[in-house]
Amino acid sequence: MTTFRFYTAAGLFTGLLFCFVALLWDLQVVSGAAWYEKSQQAIAQVETVPAARGKILDRTGKILAQDSLSWVIRVSGDCPEPDLQRLEVLCREEGVDWSGAGDITEPTPALLVRVRSEGLTRVTVEPVVTRTGSGELAPHVIGRVGPMTPDQWESYEAQGYPMDARVGQEGAEAAFEVLLHGTDGTRVIHTDRQGEITGEAYGVLPQPGQDVTLTLDKDLQTTLQTALGDFLTAHNCPGGAGVVLDVRDGGVLAMASLPGYDTAAFSASYDDLSADSAAPLMNRAIQGLYAPGSTFKLVTAAAALEEGVLTPETKILDTGRYTYYTTPQPQCWLYRQEGRTHGLETLSEAIADSCNLFFYDAGRRVGMEALGAWAHALGLGEATGIELAGEQSGVVAGPDYTKSVGGTWYEGSVLSAAIGQENNRFTPLQLAHMTATLVGDGNRWQVHLLKKAGQEDCFPRSLGKVSISPENLSAIKEGMLEVTRSGSLAEAFRDLPVEAGAKTGSAQVAADREANAVLVAFAPYEAPQIALALVAEEGGSGSALGTVAAQVLAAYFENV
Ligand SMILES: [Zn+2]
Repeated sequence: MTTFRFYTAAGLFTGLLFCFVALLWDLQVVSGAAWYEKSQQAIAQVETVPAARGKILDRTGKILAQDSLSWVIRVSGDCPEPDLQRLEVLCREEGVDWSGAGDITEPTPALLVRVRSEGLTRVTVEPVVTRTGSGELAPHVIGRVGPMTPDQWESYEAQGYPMDARVGQEGAEAAFEVLLHGTDGTRVIHTDRQGEITGEAYGVLPQPGQDVTLTLDKDLQTTLQTALGDFLTAHNCPGGAGVVLDVRDGGVLAMASLPGYDTAAFSASYDDLSADSAAPLMNRAIQGLYAPGSTFKLVTAAAALEEGVLTPETKILDTGRYTYYTTPQPQCWLYRQEGRTHGLETLSEAIADSCNLFFYDAGRRVGMEALGAWAHALGLGEATGIELAGEQSGVVAGPDYTKSVGGTWYEGSVLSAAIGQENNRFTPLQLAHMTATLVGDGNRWQVHLLKKAGQEDCFPRSLGKVSISPENLSAIKEGMLEVTRSGSLAEAFRDLPVEAGAKTGSAQVAADREANAVLVAFAPYEAPQIALALVAEEGGSGSALGTVAAQVLAAYFENV
């Protein structure tokens, strides 16, 4: 028994010794140089552990953008041949395509488990974080995450970002980078001389970024984008934009710019997108400058009433042609089109049927200086200061601007300025803000997209109040109500669950093209909650946009 044990033990020992010697021979002699090099790389490495980026949520908590985790199998260039061969076998067995070199970017869960359990040398399994956005929904507003440009690296380097960090590009992802981006951590990885991981520990724990809640309503955004998109397609328009604001606090409930793009396909299609003459990368809602057309009559109305040049009861006679100046002598659209006039009208009636003559006279009596001041007071020709980059400030027509572009300003130029022509150019966001300010009793709220950072409310912020008397405001609102009751929008707005006010515009920008269609609206009539502005390039008449406005208002009030 003892003898048997002895020989068994001796045999095992001899076997082990033989193996050991063989291994030593292999290590020291056959591949000694390679092992020596590897031993120099091993022992401990410090890796950056990216912090999870905060989510972007809509006002109701629906996810607009978030990080999603996937895995990649990293295969080092110095992976030993037997391990490479084994990996090829595993890939084949698990049905994963792999060229035999480089990382395996789309491993199946089964392959991940097998690769981990086999512990192949110089083969590691690593998590990869990707940002999943909303694709084609509000790409200009939500933005995307991508590698830094050299310019961005200059400023982000000082903030401690690693060079390969991905940062917010455009939209809310860029605007709220500071909140969304957490603080990266570090991980110390210990490996043995064969490259196998023997232990790992966090040097510094990564601090995840904050979730950001936008004022945007995902469902309303979808409705606006779909309704406007259908309109643009049906009318063969090259582009358009729409903005819906909360009258009570300046929050952006929806903002669409069309054509748009898919943030998920941005990198792959960048060349096409940037070369596209329809400018899909431009956010027309804040960068598109459009003549407001007759929607500007609301500004002329407020100015004329508040400057005291007329009252809500003052009547002006539409004679078809305005003959105060020798030149110009512009006509009312009704006279030009049908040879008729609107007759004697009050301000409310003139808003309802958009009489040019009334507003030529009102504008002339107010004068360009006061008219321009009122436009600015209502936020036109001024950047709103929304958090998004690249906002245009627009232009309020007047002698200074005309001179600055080498033109001549005539006394009679005030007539066309008063009905939204001349050099007046505003963004759809400004038109929505102007409408919100007017119908919100003159209260100016800072336009914003950020509702909450983490759990903290960020707005509203008052910008003061434009003084408009209740009687004057009523006169303007009554005119807008009549547009939706008996005027050009009566049919489109007939089935709405609430009463609304609106004003349409149609601005000719080039002789050989259809006019741009413009529409502003608010609802409910008695206690306004939302204001919107729509623009369709070459959409013709602003009243055609009534169906789009009605769909947006219906969607909003369905859920209130
Ligand atoms: Zn008229």
